Amino acid sequence: MSGDCLFCRIASGDQPASIVYENDDVVAFEDISPQAPTHLLVIPRDHLESTNELSRDDAELAGRIIIACKEIAESMGFAADGYRVVINCGSDGGQVVQHLHAHVLAGRSLGWPPG
Ligand code: AMP
Ligand code: ZN
Repeated sequence: MSGDCLFCRIASGDQPASIVYENDDVVAFEDISPQAPTHLLVIPRDHLESTNELSRDDAELAGRIIIACKEIAESMGFAADGYRVVINCGSDGGQVVQHLHAHVLAGRSLGWPPG
């Protein structure tokens, strides 16, 4: 937990967010600036800055983040139509919030390649 980290504050409940799912490892909430009809962020409860900080010891946590995306897609009903999971890393990756998070985008056909 990092007190000056926005997503740590959301995970601890100190900062309001529209939480759609949580378990022991992750919290998922609606993105405040949605880029698709459904735009969620899935974050680990533990503070990790980005994928750059992951080690092999984090393999289980990294897998649980992805599995959470899939479980949310199923429970919210968009798994069959499809969705995109995106993790931005660093400045070239477009990462703005320095707490690892997976974007889950759904509800429309998404373009490729990204800009
Ligand atoms: P990234 O550019 O990958 O770091 O994505 C950060 C995301 O966090 C952006 O899509 C923002 O819209 C979103 N965001 C920033 N502040 C909040 C907030 N308080 N609640 C929900 N989403 C937020
Ligand atoms: Zn954090």
